[in-house]
Amino acid sequence: MKKLILTVAAALLSLPVSTALAADPRALAAIAPLQWVEPDAIEYTLARVRGLGDAKEQLHEVAEAGLEQMACRGLIDFRGLTAVRTGGFGYRDQFRGRSWMRPALARVVLRAHEAFRAERPTNWVTVADATQPGCGQLSYGTLVRMVEDRQSAEARATAGRVAGLNAASLDGDGPSETQRLLAEVQFLVGQPGAAEMHTAADFPLEHERFHSQNQPVLLEHRILARGLSEDGEGRTVLRVATRRYALLPDLPKPRQQKRLVAGMTRAVQKLWASGQTIQSEQVNDFDPVAGQRQVWMVHKVDQRAGLQITVLAREMPGATLDPQSAIEIRLSRWHDRKPGNGNGEVRWRPTEGGWQRWLMLSEAGHMTHAGGRDADISYVTADNTDHLRVRLNRIDVMGTWRWWQLLDETSRAAGTPLERIFIDGKVRTLFAKHLPAEAKATLLWQDIIAVSQGHDAHHHVRLASAPAEREGAALVDLFTPVLPMEDAVGVSMPGDSWIRAQAVCVAPLIPVSAPPASSTAASSRALAYPSR
Ligand SMILES: [Zn+2]
Repeated sequence: MKKLILTVAAALLSLPVSTALAADPRALAAIAPLQWVEPDAIEYTLARVRGLGDAKEQLHEVAEAGLEQMACRGLIDFRGLTAVRTGGFGYRDQFRGRSWMRPALARVVLRAHEAFRAERPTNWVTVADATQPGCGQLSYGTLVRMVEDRQSAEARATAGRVAGLNAASLDGDGPSETQRLLAEVQFLVGQPGAAEMHTAADFPLEHERFHSQNQPVLLEHRILARGLSEDGEGRTVLRVATRRYALLPDLPKPRQQKRLVAGMTRAVQKLWASGQTIQSEQVNDFDPVAGQRQVWMVHKVDQRAGLQITVLAREMPGATLDPQSAIEIRLSRWHDRKPGNGNGEVRWRPTEGGWQRWLMLSEAGHMTHAGGRDADISYVTADNTDHLRVRLNRIDVMGTWRWWQLLDETSRAAGTPLERIFIDGKVRTLFAKHLPAEAKATLLWQDIIAVSQGHDAHHHVRLASAPAEREGAALVDLFTPVLPMEDAVGVSMPGDSWIRAQAVCVAPLIPVSAPPASSTAASSRALAYPSR
């Protein structure tokens, strides 16, 4: 069986996917224009879409509003920022770039943590997902990036880790990732994008997610939009949504594999009958072996069962579906409040010898993190262990309470108050039992800390939306004593010399105690938080 897997892998890898492929000019022309908007605009649009109860209406509204083509201005990479400072944080995200925040949130988290560490030098918190660059919506399994012609070292490294590319190959002289994607763009089930085949060995930081080093990994980069860089310097930027799929080995015993396929067939037929068709059209597609072709794509959702199915086939499928007649069948969960989600997606492809199963590599899909003012952070725990794990008995209640107090104090002092800190009901019960009465009498406990289930391994900090001048002041505060800026600032600096970057950054030095008017903060274009 192992040998068979290797043969399948070898066959897949010998496909001419990596050889330079001419772009499909129609796919190139179909890339939508990028729209830079305020973070609040994305939050508002997404909330409106989520509020629609019907799957078909949601899909229509996502397209109508151009949600996937929007990118928000003004976020900064918290991870890059703290890399040039002594943040002392733990990080869960080592490679996915879900660490972007509005400046005001970045300042509050950073300054509160500095104060916390000053009091408790041996404790720290771990930062988990914040927001994706450009307010990329956090669909399950989807890593959204803003890919620029000239990227910072940090962005190149992220691209390398997400896309399985050696960061050095994305360096200076060779083609940039932007050029590479545009040179290879094809229609992938009707949408402009590029697919690549890798092996698990190309993702060294994630080895525990794979069965073996040579397990095939399919990358699907959807190019959502193309435009010019945020800083007005005129560089090409692509908004790219990447999903990654690992080819699962067949089950060890043929009998088990047969049962698995039979189970899939039953599930597919049932869902085909019960699902509401939300999309059915003939679209352009590209396959490394078959080349450019047209396929039928039918997307059905069973909202009651919380499941969805997408079938790709050469002929329009009828009322009953024979799975064997499909080119590919995609099965995943459906969540009414998470448009476009696809948690746990498996793609089944019939082959001569049976079925291939491609499992989407999981990435959390928290939709509320779309505007740059939300961050998931660990509780303070004994010995800093079990961060981001559900271990209630490891939570240091008084340490965590102190951390929250400092978040609250810091945010109010900066004029950018907290809106909420979400915790799980079980965590609230734990705190209610151990906190002294005076703590429970505070507005922090009574008004800001709120219960939202699922927050038992982390708490979720949300800042209130702050006016532009407050965001400008936060930027000035954060970047006053600077080191290499390119790694930290969302908008790449003009020129690649960090000395030049520093000169740009230092220009609007204004004491933080007197928050500048937004026009003053805007004196450096690269640093300005946009007025709204
Ligand atoms: Zn969260």
